[in-house]
Amino acid sequence: MKQCKTCEEIKTLTDFYSGRNSCKVCVIERVKRSTNKQTKTAYDKDRRKKKGDELRAYDRERAKLPHRRAAHNEDTRKRRAKLKDAIPDDYDREGVLAMYKLAQKISNLTGVQMHVDHTIPLACGGEHNVKNLQLLAGTLNIAKGANVNFQLNWEKYPK
Ligand SMILES: [Zn+2]
Repeated sequence: MKQCKTCEEIKTLTDFYSGRNSCKVCVIERVKRSTNKQTKTAYDKDRRKKKGDELRAYDRERAKLPHRRAAHNEDTRKRRAKLKDAIPDDYDREGVLAMYKLAQKISNLTGVQMHVDHTIPLACGGEHNVKNLQLLAGTLNIAKGANVNFQLNWEKYPK
């Protein structure tokens, strides 16, 4: 006898495919769900509703892992950018992710918090793509805000 990890019913071993922790019924259900986009969306929505807090806490903890941070920052930025329709057709995810990874690396090495900045701000119609990205120290990025013609005042920011 074995307990199914999904429906938690205790069933005989013949009700399980070998090496599976869920019973045949549950495995089949899951495959059906994952191959039907509509059912999958409905299921995900329902799961979010029931276990939302738990899942969000999990996401937050996962984002703290060093190897996830760059990707997480990029995801956050992408989500915001999407809101503003700033993702172009030729969006280069690899390239953009590389920028975020580089910023992370420089921050770790120098202790200076680096930001990935949109040269032309999203608010001014700039694209969320490699061409429009630059690395800026966090303090400068905050000073820049949503200004297009930002002039660095080096006297204000001693090296
Ligand atoms: Zn089951």
